[in-house]
Amino acid sequence: MKEGAKKNKAVFLDRDGVINRETGNYVFKPEDFDLNEGVFDALAMLRDRGFMLIVISNQGGIARGLYTHSHVRKIHDILNKKLSVQSISLTEIYYCPHYPATGRCLCRKPGSILLEKAIARFNIDPAMSWMIGDKETDIEAARRSGVKGILVKPNDSLMDYMNIIIPRQ
Ligand SMILES: [Mg+2]
Ligand SMILES: [Zn+2]
Repeated sequence: MKEGAKKNKAVFLDRDGVINRETGNYVFKPEDFDLNEGVFDALAMLRDRGFMLIVISNQGGIARGLYTHSHVRKIHDILNKKLSVQSISLTEIYYCPHYPATGRCLCRKPGSILLEKAIARFNIDPAMSWMIGDKETDIEAARRSGVKGILVKPNDSLMDYMNIIIPRQ
């Protein structure tokens, strides 16, 4: 990269409890995948401010044999389709399929490997970027990668937090 080349900024988003309803169980069936209130408006605001939108999700149910990569892909197809109707696109969706009891990995949050992968691949400046999550592990992953964290209440409207990222004029 040339010195002084402009870096991108991003908002990293946890999935369950932030984008879609945290049900208390793994969400892998389309009928359980409900978007939270305010998600279209918030993501459109961030898009309009020039942020890349990148999902970082733990999907340990795969390692536990409860569902498969293909279930996750199907859910993400549904998500991308719903967003594209609103002219919102996610730069990438990263997920960790592992679970501590069945094998250690570095990508499961609070690990920061997935964030760091995205930061390198998309030339992102972590200091200009944010991670929105509903668990302390999301915020810890953010901290480890130099990204600012915003802890939200599960299933809250993201609109309630936009003034943190986009200060009111
Ligand atoms: Mg969550
Ligand atoms: Zn992993």
